[in-house]
Amino acid sequence: MIPHSLDIPERRNQTERFVRRMMGFKVVIALSDELDLKCSTVGGFTGPAVHQLLPDNPEPVRTIVVASKPLQAAVDKVQRCLAFDAILLHELGHVAEHGFPVVDQQSDREHFQNLCSTPITEWPSHTGPKWAGHDCRFIRALLHIHHRMLSRGHRTPCLRLAFNHVAYGLSRIETYRDALGTEPEDNDWPPLAEILVDPMPAGFQTLWTNDVVRSLGLPTAATDFDSTISVTKTGRTYEHATQ
Ligand SMILES: [Zn+2]
Repeated sequence: MIPHSLDIPERRNQTERFVRRMMGFKVVIALSDELDLKCSTVGGFTGPAVHQLLPDNPEPVRTIVVASKPLQAAVDKVQRCLAFDAILLHELGHVAEHGFPVVDQQSDREHFQNLCSTPITEWPSHTGPKWAGHDCRFIRALLHIHHRMLSRGHRTPCLRLAFNHVAYGLSRIETYRDALGTEPEDNDWPPLAEILVDPMPAGFQTLWTNDVVRSLGLPTAATDFDSTISVTKTGRTYEHATQ
């Protein structure tokens, strides 16, 4: 079933079924209000231990929390669904990028509540440039998922809403999509984990390299620059959020 309901809880249920077929594994989607979380700084988040927020302490399962606040701020039902879809798309990019769940950490409710009410750039796991956590691996995963949603009939996820390039100091998502070429179309069905370990298309790699050079103020003539640069996250958390 393609998500079509304008009622958010029902759309969430439809989207869970849609995503399970598309991704090949289960992803639980929770609304922050249902979890009694006050999300004031993020549109949504995911991570290896987020399932611990769910009622009845379920087995580890990939879990995405969508914040209720940006949905309530939408001017009408359609805009609310657009926001929901965009947040979901963004977080699915993180799920695909990292292959959650990883269960080597325990996080209590207070930990998540703090994350939800702290600007992302002040999170313990957010170190480095503005795009930290949203590097080329995430962008590539996001574009693949967006393509798969569209190719399976899901028409509303908006890339621009899902990728705030201004906040990250990176090129527009449409520019990255063009640079990725036909890779998503040519790899529409294989598990994403298999595709994302392959070398990136040259044009995509070049665009990313140029963005990193610009954002970090590196000399463009640097010949020993490792164009696969990415940020190694440190600390106890690996949660990722929609900014
Ligand atoms: Zn994110």
